[in-house]
Amino acid sequence: MTKTIPLLDATEFAQQQFLRGMPLVQPEALSPLLDRRQRALHDLRISVTDRCNFRCTYCMPKDAFGRDHAFLSHDEVLRFEEIARLAQLFTRLGVRKIRLTGGEPLLRKNIERLIEMLAAIDGIDLTLTTNASILAKKAQSLRNAGVQRITVSLDAIDDATFRRMNDVNFPLARVLEGIDAAARAGLTPIKINTVVKRGVNENAILPLIRTFKGSGHIVRFIEYMDVGATNGWRMDDVVSATEIVDTINAEFPLEPIDPNYQGEVAGRWRFKDGSGEIGVIASVTQAFCRDCTRMRLSTNGQLFTCLFANRGYDFRALLRDGADDDTLIRAITALWQNRDDNYSEQRTANTPRAQKIEMSYIGG
Ligand code: SAM
Ligand code: SF4
Ligand code: SF4
Repeated sequence: MTKTIPLLDATEFAQQQFLRGMPLVQPEALSPLLDRRQRALHDLRISVTDRCNFRCTYCMPKDAFGRDHAFLSHDEVLRFEEIARLAQLFTRLGVRKIRLTGGEPLLRKNIERLIEMLAAIDGIDLTLTTNASILAKKAQSLRNAGVQRITVSLDAIDDATFRRMNDVNFPLARVLEGIDAAARAGLTPIKINTVVKRGVNENAILPLIRTFKGSGHIVRFIEYMDVGATNGWRMDDVVSATEIVDTINAEFPLEPIDPNYQGEVAGRWRFKDGSGEIGVIASVTQAFCRDCTRMRLSTNGQLFTCLFANRGYDFRALLRDGADDDTLIRAITALWQNRDDNYSEQRTANTPRAQKIEMSYIGG
């Protein structure tokens, strides 16, 4: 049924001519909405702020995000009503999972109000990724507002390495307090994301396992990626998923388990002694573009069809120009149907990086 809509040229879209001549399509007729590689639209990641109180060296290195960095102004940032309106339309096109991210999403003022608006949308799994710096005081209000589960980023379990990686001397203890508060508030199961960078924190793998094994929290190791253009990524810095699993398996025997659902990005492994599971996200060495069902909405209202895209599509302009719902639905449809991204399947150590969008801008 989706094939009744003509595919549109991306340049045409950029000029916002893409709506002309398109038949009005009933949203109900669009499910599932497929891209050029037959991938359905299922997830929406929303970056609610481009600001962060950390300067993780792999994400917002101080050199590039110093005092004079120009963050978005208040007017440039998408308003809660605008985000919620788009989110509602996305659910009509098949989105079932929304993740709030950033920047640091808990720094967005009154984030609980946005969460309430999103949680009111039927059939949505609503989650959030945070550095947990202010999670201890926010966990209960996030839960009350409607967040179901939470992912905490944590790259080391020793204070010195953690402070070095966040590069703002932020103490580990406050993050651990945040994780405990989230568990008490029922934001479970908690996932703990660890980006592994060679020579920086591969020594943190086993200590993290020792700390969280048996806790019910799921530690997930992520291969360091070449997102953005500022982190100086080199293939040599990547610790592969295979290496990570081998390291853990040598001390804590593991066995693979089936994904929870088709397209799950983390490979799942459980401890043979029954004390829980871990995840490994092999975004570099075992690309999962084939199953990538995500659209990303940046802080200033641009839609990106890939984490590694070098351009987004300006939905803030459409919203603020007074576009009606049918217009927005057709625009999203056109964008998804034209999607052909598979960057990670093509990446090599020498892929040029100059134009890619920063992770803090479109969220992880
Ligand atoms: N500030 C929040 C946090 O850190 O959880 C949310 C935004 S952050 C951009 C989302 C996720 O992206 C984090 O788990 C972070 O570790 C991950 N990330 C950032 N830069 C990365 C990189 N170069 N490679 C792999 N993961 C990265
Ligand atoms: Fe901030 Fe998250 Fe990026 Fe670290 S990974 S700098 S906490 S946005
Ligand atoms: Fe999805 Fe792009 Fe990542 Fe491939 S490279 S998995 S298309 S976000």
